Amino acid sequence: MHASPEPRIIRVHPQDNVAIVVNDGGLPAGAQTADGVILREHVPQGHKVALQDIPAGHAILRYGVAIGRAVSEITRGSWVQESLVEMPDARPLENLPVSTRTDFACEPLEGHTFEGFRNPDGTAGTRNILAITTTVQCVAGVVEHAVRRIKAELLPRYPNVDDVVALEHTYGCGVAIDAPDAPIPIRTLRNISLNPNFGGQAMVVSLGCEKLQSSKLLPETAQAEAHARCVVCLQDERHVGFDSMIRSIMEMAEARLKILGARQRETCPASDLVVGLQCGGSDAFSGVTANPAVGFATDLLVRAGATVLFSENTEVRDGIDQLTARALNAGVADALVREMAWYDAYLARGGADRSANTTPGNKKGGLVNIVEKAMGSIVKSGSAPICGVLGPGEKAAQKGLLYAATPASDFICGTLQMAAGMNLHVFTTGRGTPYGLAAVPVLKVATRTDLARRWHDLMDLDAGKIATGTATIEEVGWELFHMLLAVASGKKTWAEHWKLHNALTLFNPAPIT
Ligand code: CA
Repeated sequence: MHASPEPRIIRVHPQDNVAIVVNDGGLPAGAQTADGVILREHVPQGHKVALQDIPAGHAILRYGVAIGRAVSEITRGSWVQESLVEMPDARPLENLPVSTRTDFACEPLEGHTFEGFRNPDGTAGTRNILAITTTVQCVAGVVEHAVRRIKAELLPRYPNVDDVVALEHTYGCGVAIDAPDAPIPIRTLRNISLNPNFGGQAMVVSLGCEKLQSSKLLPETAQAEAHARCVVCLQDERHVGFDSMIRSIMEMAEARLKILGARQRETCPASDLVVGLQCGGSDAFSGVTANPAVGFATDLLVRAGATVLFSENTEVRDGIDQLTARALNAGVADALVREMAWYDAYLARGGADRSANTTPGNKKGGLVNIVEKAMGSIVKSGSAPICGVLGPGEKAAQKGLLYAATPASDFICGTLQMAAGMNLHVFTTGRGTPYGLAAVPVLKVATRTDLARRWHDLMDLDAGKIATGTATIEEVGWELFHMLLAVASGKKTWAEHWKLHNALTLFNPAPIT
């Protein structure tokens, strides 16, 4: 890879005393930037160069925020490496600004629609999927066998149904089911089965003796009649032999395929979208290209009346003051603080803190610590007021921009956003990940053109053109907005094209027995 002839750096905020190197392959010692900084050493792509002398102990500013203090003097033109940056303590969760930045110009954005599947509860699916949920891991092998046969023998007769998906997980037995934190995995599973992409037709396969009884998973199955309609219990005495179990599952599946298969896509307003935002494999470009473009699209979606979920506790913790300032009211600010405090305590219980978040890949991509990563991550949420907060696994019951509290782990965050009711997923990545979900389309945005070029059949959108100056944040934001409507209407993402999906991964902070 040849370095571009023109040395290019990006300073995000006028107060910043560092900027990141844009050129593929980095910049060599002696390179001179447009504003006259001469590099004293080679600085890799995405890494920071000092724009002025930074004395020992002074703040290193990026995004206009202190991402750390200089361990020793850093001279202008030097590479600001991780070893030179001392991470600040997390900001205490008190004396935070509340609702001081809610002056968002929210003119309604009218006239944008997609072709979706209208559900009986008023939500809309972007896909039409038969979900088979499970109460316990014990049944996973049987369900997998049944799904194989359903796909081969039944699904071809229902061309309007996109797929059959088994909701397998490792929960259900051998767990402290009455522990204070057990409601998190249980409500997550319950709310996933109510995801708009399942058309209100999810069915349950249970074993029979497990702790997570089907009536605890889905209280509406407690009545005998509803139970018979929605639940196949493998230990039922009527089952004699493996084949009778498979037959029961296939008969129930076929009844549901008939209902789902009779549905057609119809025009739905953009306000029916529930878009989950996430990043993974982040680099220093995440916060200057992909995430700002996603933030612009977030504002468009909110103006169109949609629901947008942003998440990842450890990646917003250092910007909690930005979030409470954008809280619609004091109740929302309190809920944000409550979720952060709960997560601080959860990490402390395991002998860790937010600094456990950054990965070797993040650091290779130029991010020195979680503070820098968080500032780039929050940008995905745009500038709209935050009008609600969901605990892990809770289902969204309102529109607008919501903070859905989740760990930052990609698969756990995606699983929890599915429980929140997400019908479309945007995922930004700098290092690159083939991440996908079986039941919700995942649209992936590359932070760098180099990644978009190499992973041309895995990345759906290249935001790197913002860094190279060939497109603006607004242009890429609109491109993403239109792409989201197309994907919601049935256009396949690359992850769907290759049928790539990650496992459902429950967040279970409660003990295992
Ligand atoms: Ca993540």
